[in-house]
Amino acid sequence: MSRRTDTVDDLVARACQGQARAIGRLISLVEDDSPLLREAMAALAPHAGRAQVVGLTGAPGVGKSTSTSALIGEYRRRGRRVGVLAVDPSSPFSGGALLGDRIRMSEHATDPDVFIRSTAARGHLGGLTWATPQALRVLDAGGFDVVLVETVGVGQSEVEIARLADTTAVLLAPGMGDGIQAAKAGLLEIGDVYVVNKADRDGADKVRRDLRTMLSHAERAADAWRPPVLRLVATEGTGVAEVVDALDEHHARSADDGTLARRRTRRARDEIEAIALTAMRARWGDLGDGAKLDGLAADVAAGRSDPYAAADTLL
Ligand code: GDP
Repeated sequence: MSRRTDTVDDLVARACQGQARAIGRLISLVEDDSPLLREAMAALAPHAGRAQVVGLTGAPGVGKSTSTSALIGEYRRRGRRVGVLAVDPSSPFSGGALLGDRIRMSEHATDPDVFIRSTAARGHLGGLTWATPQALRVLDAGGFDVVLVETVGVGQSEVEIARLADTTAVLLAPGMGDGIQAAKAGLLEIGDVYVVNKADRDGADKVRRDLRTMLSHAERAADAWRPPVLRLVATEGTGVAEVVDALDEHHARSADDGTLARRRTRRARDEIEAIALTAMRARWGDLGDGAKLDGLAADVAAGRSDPYAAADTLL
């Protein structure tokens, strides 16, 4: 057996015992698109599938970091180990460090049953849709009962990353994300639980009312889950127990009615697709330094070939 295999196996074994250093190193392999990743994922696969994955999204400034800290505190009071992946699709090169650092500076930094990591796919073609599920698998195998995936902003990639979660919580706050803004950002479709943070501020009740009205217009089967709209003052922890109750209730309900299994299969499907597409793009890029693709493009542009025939030669 090669030394390399020993190292990956050893790393995975230590990560599965919950050792933070090993978990951190495995996530770095993901970020760096390491050649060891394939082996690591194969070794991790049998240990994953147990964590409850909660996505948390909302506009910058809405209080995601503060809410994450409050949620960690509540989960810990309930005796659960918590992993946090802070994902910043808007700035892959900064490593999303800001977000993770803000949570890391919180009172949970020294708790061995809490692991917080900002993740970024440094310059990787598949980006965060490629990296996030793999980082998630590391935390899952690391034995965390709950993994919070926190994303910045409300663009397309956040919606995609929200698709990774078993339960998605959408955060809004008065003055920054009313019902109409939420609808525009596509947030009315992705939330399983809506949280109006900064409920200590004027306008919170109006945000709740507006959101409820907009959600009531969505078509749902009679027995479908109806996303609750909860109040939270993350800075004080007021309402955080109700948020965790709602997240747990949604999780239990989806486990019962088959939604959880469907979502996890969809997550695996997205992951396979991202890996396959990335590999294909890399292969085309490799074909004579992209010269083959360049040649085909020149032919199509000049009308010597059509794009379908050109694409066929790549498949
Ligand atoms: P993020 O950008 O979404 O992660 O937002 P932060 O968690 O960094 O919060 C942005 C600002 O809102 C900070 O100054 C927080 O102290 C403040 N904030 C967060 N939650 C609350 C809250 O419940 N009430 C009030 N009044 N301020 C809050």
